[in-house]
Amino acid sequence: MKPQVEIYDTTLRDGSQGEGINFSVADKLRIAEKLDAFGVHYIEGGWPGSNPKDIEFFAQAKKRKFKNAKLAAFGSTRKKNTPVEQDDQVRLLIEAGTPVVTIYGKTSMLHVKEVLRCTPEENLAMIGDTVRFLKDHGKFVIYDAEHAFDGFKLDSDYALATWQAAEKAGADFVVLCDTNGGCLPNEIAAITKTALGKLNCKVGIHTHDDIGLGVANALAALETGAVHVQGTINGYGERTGNCNLTSVIPCVALKLKKTSVPAKSLAKLKELSGFVDEVANMRHNPRLPWVGAAAFAHKGGAHVNAVQKLASSYEHIDPSLVGNARNVLISDLAGRSNIVIKAQELGFKLTNDTPELKAILNRVKELENQGYEYEAAEGSLALLIGNALKHREPPFRVDAYHVSMRRDAKESVCEATIKVSVGSKRAQTVAEGDGPVNALDGALRLALAKFFPQLKRIELTDYKVRILDGVAGTAARTRVLIQSTDGKREWGTVGVSENIIEASLQALVDSMEFALMKTS
Ligand SMILES: [Zn+2]
Repeated sequence: MKPQVEIYDTTLRDGSQGEGINFSVADKLRIAEKLDAFGVHYIEGGWPGSNPKDIEFFAQAKKRKFKNAKLAAFGSTRKKNTPVEQDDQVRLLIEAGTPVVTIYGKTSMLHVKEVLRCTPEENLAMIGDTVRFLKDHGKFVIYDAEHAFDGFKLDSDYALATWQAAEKAGADFVVLCDTNGGCLPNEIAAITKTALGKLNCKVGIHTHDDIGLGVANALAALETGAVHVQGTINGYGERTGNCNLTSVIPCVALKLKKTSVPAKSLAKLKELSGFVDEVANMRHNPRLPWVGAAAFAHKGGAHVNAVQKLASSYEHIDPSLVGNARNVLISDLAGRSNIVIKAQELGFKLTNDTPELKAILNRVKELENQGYEYEAAEGSLALLIGNALKHREPPFRVDAYHVSMRRDAKESVCEATIKVSVGSKRAQTVAEGDGPVNALDGALRLALAKFFPQLKRIELTDYKVRILDGVAGTAARTRVLIQSTDGKREWGTVGVSENIIEASLQALVDSMEFALMKTS
């Protein structure tokens, strides 16, 4: 069944403009796969014309199969006074090999005259030529009308002419953008209504949160008849951010009561939000609506009391609908079903009646209290669940390790020694590395390869460190998240300690153990 509202995610493009966000190609691929599994309809992967990293992303993404989402490459209309077929930026959009191409063009006469510095007619030709060229190459074309609302307020006839130029050339969607993020919901609704009356193609909405109305403005357009909404996970984006999809998605489903992502995905919304935070190495914002840790936290005595008697007294929805949990009771039920869903995704036969479930839940809670996060560390979570279910011992043990660093006039060298045991057999190895973690990783692999040669295939693809807030006066802890691959699949593992080397070793050990769990 066709959804009533399509979700277009631009976390990897517009979201990556946010302060402090810097995605690697591997990060982008991981997030794209997660978004696809969640069920968004479009994933905008980047702007191939703006940087080589995005070209590399599309080259890698081409080899993967996306189940639900269509991948989109983003770019602009052709350059002024240049035939479209000679425009390199447009050529790269075709070469990205995506089924969907999204281009933006100018709506506002002010921008045409002052920024683009071309005639109003040339801008219309740039829009028409580019859309037509992309359609001729078999693309599904989404036309993002930049400054649609500000441009319309300035010169409504010209604004309409630009959108109609895109439509006439065959654009599948005209998406109205509040690029500067300063419009009010009633303006958005009125202008969207006018656009819908003048255009035959479908209309979408793209908003920014500069005055805190990104989500409200998107909903205003959707209520008026727009059927496509663009935004980012957790509202990442330039300045104060983009329209936040982790708010729009539940608003569409639970407040507007329209269909968008698959119904069963809604309960995974909080997990998706946490996953993207982890991969982006951003601190979770507890005050995020719907998915924040504080979104359903009750502190005031009277509220706590009332909520315990009647949940709806101080809650606008049941938090488990979006995978969140009430914070007073540490809702055992919500926690339980989250673990069951996750375990089933990882391939375990776990149900609400599995006797080990309680022990698993307690262990996860205990570790989360210490600073572990499992949203992007499915390898570590799988080990925890697997070991609890099968009551088995780990395949190897690290008995001791030693890391040292020396530096002389010429170079600095790190050296690690590690002792491991497998059953009654022991091995000790030494390795050098660029840094202490690199040396330790080398020594661990060397030692384990004697027993498990298949581990030679495993490669470390990413390593992230986060300093956690000191809790109740204790020393700051470090969380290390690593990403590994065996060439076929990828997995994340996590370690936490006051000592960064120790935290790294935990994550490395989990990674190797997870690899063995899959192959044995
Ligand atoms: Zn934008």
